[in-house]
Amino acid sequence: MSMTHPTALVLHGGAGVLADKGYEAEITHLRTLAERGKAMLSGGASALDVVEAMVRDMEASGLYVAGRGTSPNSAGRYELDASIMEGSTRKAGAVSALEGFISPVGAARAVMEKTPHVLLAGAGAAAFAREQGLERVEDPDAYYTPAAVADDREIATGTVGAVALDSEGRLAAATSTGGTLRKRWGRVGDTPIIGSGTWADERVAVSCTGQGEMFMRANAAADVSARVKYAGARLDDAVRGALDDVGRLGGDGGIIAIDAAGNVSALYNSMGMKRALVHPDGRVEAMVK
Ligand code: ASP
Repeated sequence: MSMTHPTALVLHGGAGVLADKGYEAEITHLRTLAERGKAMLSGGASALDVVEAMVRDMEASGLYVAGRGTSPNSAGRYELDASIMEGSTRKAGAVSALEGFISPVGAARAVMEKTPHVLLAGAGAAAFAREQGLERVEDPDAYYTPAAVADDREIATGTVGAVALDSEGRLAAATSTGGTLRKRWGRVGDTPIIGSGTWADERVAVSCTGQGEMFMRANAAADVSARVKYAGARLDDAVRGALDDVGRLGGDGGIIAIDAAGNVSALYNSMGMKRALVHPDGRVEAMVK
């Protein structure tokens, strides 16, 4: 197959990082996963399929505060949020406060493809996921292995996300989370909000992690695109500008992004961000700080 376009990929495993922890397991996992994503992209897979596959894997790993690694909320329930967006069509799907399913990002993709809607919430989202026959969590207390408290110490954030550029020049983004630690029952953060936690258009694909309330008030993911579109910003400057705005509101976290030329960006104003980058020249990097 002839490659008409450079491909690239960025993953994050959340901005929740403890200063003195090594994160070897997460770095190894992210590197291996990024290599798999790179192989998918060079085999011609769509950006949409790649970001979904990357996020599904991170959800199932139990290493991050998403999917299996989710902590219970203040009411002892596991409510998960996720979203996915395809840049070339600007189609998007999301679920919020979803209970009882293995892959929230898979449910988000089903919302995008099987309904005329963008976001389904709570019991309605769960009824839809059931109807679609999506894989269920039979026993939440046995399945979930809260990554945020696994170390006996706590981190408040740890969402996962992926952005990709495929060989046909299409961009896509996906994000999935268990939300912030001990969030209030019914609380929804930026992750399933298109424009706040996730965005993809013909210019950029963006996924955010951090204190969701501030990312929502900054409309951070869409702001990266706006800075490129209206101000002609370089990708890194657009990401830095959006992150600075989150910071001015008192929020910390990180943003990963990719543009249509294959520029990649992964910046944070937190202690670190678990992340991996596949550059257009094929170089793979994985790191936390
Ligand atoms: N942004 C997520 C939320 O507020 C948390 C995170 O990134 O870990 O739900």
